[in-house]
Amino acid sequence: MIRTMVFAGIIALAACSSEAQDSAKTQDVPAPQIKPIAAKAAQVAEPHSEPLHDAQSSSPNPDAAPKKMDWSKPLTCVGQAVQGGALLCRTYGSTYVTLGGTKVQSDGSGQVILGFDRDAPSTVTAKLVDPGGHSYSQTFDVKAREWDISRIDGLPKNQVSEYTAEELKRIRAATARKKIGFASQEPVVRLTSDGFESPVKDYIKTTNFGAQRILNGIKKRPHYGVDMAAPAGTPITAPADGVVSLADMDMYFEGSLIMIDHGQGLISYYMHMQDVLVEPGQIIKTGDVIGKIGTRGRSTGPHLCWRLKWRGQNLDPELLTKWPDQVQLSQD
Ligand SMILES: [Zn+2]
Repeated sequence: MIRTMVFAGIIALAACSSEAQDSAKTQDVPAPQIKPIAAKAAQVAEPHSEPLHDAQSSSPNPDAAPKKMDWSKPLTCVGQAVQGGALLCRTYGSTYVTLGGTKVQSDGSGQVILGFDRDAPSTVTAKLVDPGGHSYSQTFDVKAREWDISRIDGLPKNQVSEYTAEELKRIRAATARKKIGFASQEPVVRLTSDGFESPVKDYIKTTNFGAQRILNGIKKRPHYGVDMAAPAGTPITAPADGVVSLADMDMYFEGSLIMIDHGQGLISYYMHMQDVLVEPGQIIKTGDVIGKIGTRGRSTGPHLCWRLKWRGQNLDPELLTKWPDQVQLSQD
């Protein structure tokens, strides 16, 4: 529930900025480790006559199976094809899926997550090659969005544009640690078709995902997160099951940073906390407390900056909290 009155005094500037937090978006997530496959001539969908994998018995996490899936189709998904959105899809086990320029492999039960970057083009085609060598394709119409303009003035220069040698050293060291966190490769989908729960129960949203940031009058990278203002010390909970891939209290811009790998390349992350209560490698469940709201790093007031990546692409975590209301997509 979003409360709109109580925190008004503290949230006017409770926000963060991002341009240096995200190095080039394709650099901080590794290419999936998958084997080359033989090229197939046909990329057009065709009826699939082989028996499907028994996903319910083979899935390491059967609860994660999307509801209302059509098991007769090569690719069936829940979610929304929209800029910043993602789909949780069912295909055949160990099937290669290439979405745009990103190549992934479904987990053993056939689940795969597909994401659409903030700046995804209007159509994106998924090409599938199953273990039997059959090829399929499906083109998604990606709904375009409009983005806010977000201005913050009065930030210290060493948080925006002018860094000392010592600060640059800290920034580079933090970037190297972030790459390790984003390199996590949990193979099994730990997200369910219920999507995310909000990591903060009572908050005021101060910045939307995707907002074009202008800091001290300088145009910066878009804001790739959702800023959720709440009093310092407010618990932050895991929005879905996952494995902690980074837990760090000494980041230059983020102040503190937690990353949770939800499997299949989907990594959510959390900034500016006054307390980090998890450790790398820790397996966590939905609702576990991972940290507490703070204002560390480049932050102008107590808030959580909640972000989400899928294999280097920037997604809107709010869209995944609304999955149950979204339409199902399937191949005709
Ligand atoms: Zn933020």
